[in-house]
Amino acid sequence: MRITVICLTLLTILIISCTKENISANENKKQMNTIKQSDNPYYSRTDTTKLNVPDSEWKKILPADVYAVAREKDTERAFTGKYWNTMGIGTYYCEVCGNPLFRSDEKFASTCGWPSFFETIRPNSVIYEQDDSYGMNRTEVLCGRCDSHLGHLFDDGPPPTGKRYCMNSIVLDFVVDEKQEKK
Ligand SMILES: [Zn+2]
Repeated sequence: MRITVICLTLLTILIISCTKENISANENKKQMNTIKQSDNPYYSRTDTTKLNVPDSEWKKILPADVYAVAREKDTERAFTGKYWNTMGIGTYYCEVCGNPLFRSDEKFASTCGWPSFFETIRPNSVIYEQDDSYGMNRTEVLCGRCDSHLGHLFDDGPPPTGKRYCMNSIVLDFVVDEKQEKK
């Protein structure tokens, strides 16, 4: 009986440690994906200096699908982006330049199919422009550092702001908090 209990305990410990390893391996993989190739000299998660890089230069640096959204204001299809239902704890950076944009606790579960936030990290994380394209009256949201198109801002978000920053996953770069990873 005692041996059975010991065996079961050991088995439980083994299962828990395996699960933990898997989780941390996944997080590491995610982390790896967020490390920028050295061929983007403008990418920095700490430097907030405003960038003034022409599209011809971005075109050489960015993958075509990122370029299409960031510089040509394309929109990814709903429910296809990598972050529309992400719930992890961490920070969302601009995929193009590394500017910190949103914290995960500013994200909310929206049914629209795009990652949605009710607030930005800093008021100047993003800038706004009037967008009258497609016969609509919308507020365009651009990165405050590199002017890349991120998405649109709507007034149908939850409290406390009532705002909905409707973003394209492809121009966001989610980095899980370090503390969270070590757990
Ligand atoms: Zn940016």
